[in-house]
Amino acid sequence: MSLNFDKLYELQDKKAPLYFKYKECVQCQPAYLMMDESGTVWADRDITVDVNRSAVPGAIAAGHTLRWELSSHLSGRDIAALPKDQKIVELLTGIHEGHTLVFNEQNKQVGQLTKEAKKAVVELGRYLDIVHTPLCTHGAEASSRAS
Ligand SMILES: [Zn+2]
Repeated sequence: MSLNFDKLYELQDKKAPLYFKYKECVQCQPAYLMMDESGTVWADRDITVDVNRSAVPGAIAAGHTLRWELSSHLSGRDIAALPKDQKIVELLTGIHEGHTLVFNEQNKQVGQLTKEAKKAVVELGRYLDIVHTPLCTHGAEASSRAS
């Protein structure tokens, strides 16, 4: 039961791999750090056009994949450095250990988290907010960094 960060390392040399902005939108699309039930960790942007921002992908809704918001403006180097942050690794490890798939009443496989894992999910969200999620300041600086 170890975590796999290869997909984060693959982004190392990209300038702003999570960045995507539709011309008609003021802000860029949201980006996420994600982990599935096998412990594979990756980061991606959500390019779904959704005015209400309420569309949740099936794997997330079913709890197979867990996700935390990241800044869309992070560089590949910053993303590849996330696994070097001991606190992030500890929290992800704890979440992974408390994350299992079970069958629900509809005989559908859904993710289940232990009480400790649920706490760690919240804590990781707070931590990423503070350390790695500068607000989307879609000014000149943000767009020049991302282009
Ligand atoms: Zn932005």
